[in-house]
Amino acid sequence: VHRFFLAPECFGPGSVTFPTPQARQLRQVLRLQAGDQVIVLDNSGWEYRVELEEMGKAAVRGIIRERRPSRGEPGLKITLFQALLKGDRLEFVLHKGTELGIAAFVPLRSQRCIAQGPTPAKYGRWRRIIAEAAEQSGRGRLPALEPLQDFPQACRSAPGLALIPWEGERGMSLRQALEKCPGSKQVSLFIGPEGGFTSAEIELARSCGLLSVSLGERILRAETAGLVAATVILYHYGELG
Ligand code: SAH
Repeated sequence: VHRFFLAPECFGPGSVTFPTPQARQLRQVLRLQAGDQVIVLDNSGWEYRVELEEMGKAAVRGIIRERRPSRGEPGLKITLFQALLKGDRLEFVLHKGTELGIAAFVPLRSQRCIAQGPTPAKYGRWRRIIAEAAEQSGRGRLPALEPLQDFPQACRSAPGLALIPWEGERGMSLRQALEKCPGSKQVSLFIGPEGGFTSAEIELARSCGLLSVSLGERILRAETAGLVAATVILYHYGELG
């Protein structure tokens, strides 16, 4: 069954009206007809079973048959602070991270970032990638995409248990850090760019209360590390597998 996140203004009493892109998708791409059912999400944790009623060129409308809490959200909120990456590697992280259950993404500018900050058009593209992945994977909410933050500002604002995977860390593994913090409900995860974090950045992070952790003996690429760490964290707290 196809799933669609719709904006609040699309919801009327007992019915929904699909905006043009979704209406076109329903009629021309999916070729659905009156009487077919879809799931509509309001991005506040509820989902609606909707029966398509009117499939006109002017308007596509459906009747709400059932409202129920969405099951797709992990109880644990992970915010991924991901340093800007070259090419379309960040898009890969947004797509896969949404499937895994990451709650929010913060693009991060750190000292060794080579990639430029995103243009407004790029942000629009990133939002569409997140929405598509969220619909396809059964998320109940759209992961937030925050504005670009500088590293020091991000360190000071990181919510919950704040972890910074660092390949130079010898004292503490990710597993040990998680075992020390049972029952965490919120985790911030900082991942560096292709060239990694500088030692000055690690020092600053620690002075803000972040824990530097190791992900093991192999160096993971920047687009792999956050996804792997998020997987381990969700598994550790019983939200995956
Ligand atoms: N250029 C660096 C590696 C950067 S990897 C070097 O060759 O040493 C990019 C990011 O992934 C790092 O900033 C870190 O946050 C994370 N990372 C990759 N492998 C890791 C590991 N084994 N332990 C902890 N963090 C790791």
